[in-house]
Amino acid sequence: MRFTEVIARKRDGHALTREAITTFVRGVTDASIPDYQTAALLMAVVLRGMTDAETSWLTDAMLRSGERVDLSSLPGVKVGKHSTGGVGDKVSIALAPLAAACGVIVPKMSGRGLGHTGGTLDKLESIPGYRTNLTVPEFVDVLRDVGVCIIGQSHTLVPADKKLYALRDVTATVESVPLIAASIMSKKLAEGSTALVLDVKCGQGAFMKTELDARALARALVAIGREAGVPTHVLLSRMDAPLGRAIGNALEIAECLEVLRGEGPEDLTSLVVTLATRMVMLATGTDFDRARDTVRRALSSGAALSRLRAMIARQGGDSSIVDDPRRLPQARHRTVVTAERSGYVVRLAAERLGQAAADLGAGRERVDDPVDHAVGVVVEARLGTAVRRGDPVLRLHYNDADRLARAIDVARSAIEVGDAPPETLETAIGWVE
Ligand code: URA
Repeated sequence: MRFTEVIARKRDGHALTREAITTFVRGVTDASIPDYQTAALLMAVVLRGMTDAETSWLTDAMLRSGERVDLSSLPGVKVGKHSTGGVGDKVSIALAPLAAACGVIVPKMSGRGLGHTGGTLDKLESIPGYRTNLTVPEFVDVLRDVGVCIIGQSHTLVPADKKLYALRDVTATVESVPLIAASIMSKKLAEGSTALVLDVKCGQGAFMKTELDARALARALVAIGREAGVPTHVLLSRMDAPLGRAIGNALEIAECLEVLRGEGPEDLTSLVVTLATRMVMLATGTDFDRARDTVRRALSSGAALSRLRAMIARQGGDSSIVDDPRRLPQARHRTVVTAERSGYVVRLAAERLGQAAADLGAGRERVDDPVDHAVGVVVEARLGTAVRRGDPVLRLHYNDADRLARAIDVARSAIEVGDAPPETLETAIGWVE
């Protein structure tokens, strides 16, 4: 079949065969299909969608386009974790060592931040010396010794996704549930996990803006996991206001240490405990109550904090930051953004606060922009807090005064103070499995 016929079939709303999808992914990987034809098929998929079977075949073909990490030498269930990302989403950095302290093996390959959302790798790289570029054999060794290892995506895994994502980014074809699901799951399955816990965020600061869209993505992810024989449980969670208080790399590491010391913000701690409990249930088969008790004990005994210390040390980082977070990079200056009237904080728009932190240098607009690990935004008055005119709502940590004016404007536009306290909603919405 000529490739134009494959494009035409999808354009006309028909399902593609497994063979056509496999040929497509092979052609993308070895560059035998030109970008203009790939882009045409991607757009046809955006407009016409894919069946569950097509999405699974696409995932499988992408997974086979590169290396797959083999963790079979490690005993037990390996539970991977992924979040679709949001502002202040530092969950993995507290969750992964917590789950490991409960006996779960947690292999994790993470990405960098782009635009208003931060990336786990940038946060970890604010720890002096921390290496995110371990080789796959080093990754397996750390997992064997510590039970948890967080590194960057190996270039040998899922090369088809790198090509497809770069093309989707410039052809307005990112927003498609089957394409997003295949992209996420091909990478997660390549990391060698035997079960997955995923956090799909929805709301104003998230990739998926509505619960309906987030649910559709969650269902697609679960269906791919089922087909691949990898149990996949997805938590839907809200992302309208930032998660926790801190936005910015070193600031978020410090907040993760608070969570593991039992002193973290309630929303973040609760999400970390909810996800960790599910990881323990998947790994050990125990019921919810026992798994949650195990997780709480790992927090209160300091076992989770010890696990983080061990992971940082094994990855070349300065593990003394765990006991003395002041050793993390610190911005030279601070300033506050205050309430313009008295009342209750009813809105802290996540996307704008992420943008303000990025404007200060915590994030990047382009993949090769440098990042300032020290800077960011800390929420002083969270949603629902009663404030008087002039009270601090946000504290901006900055190094470069030239970046400040714009960041203050953006940060101020994120705040709304109203007459009555807002409705408070749990961060976690529910599980799709
Ligand atoms: N994240 C991914 O890894 N892939 C997508 O397509 C979208 C978000």
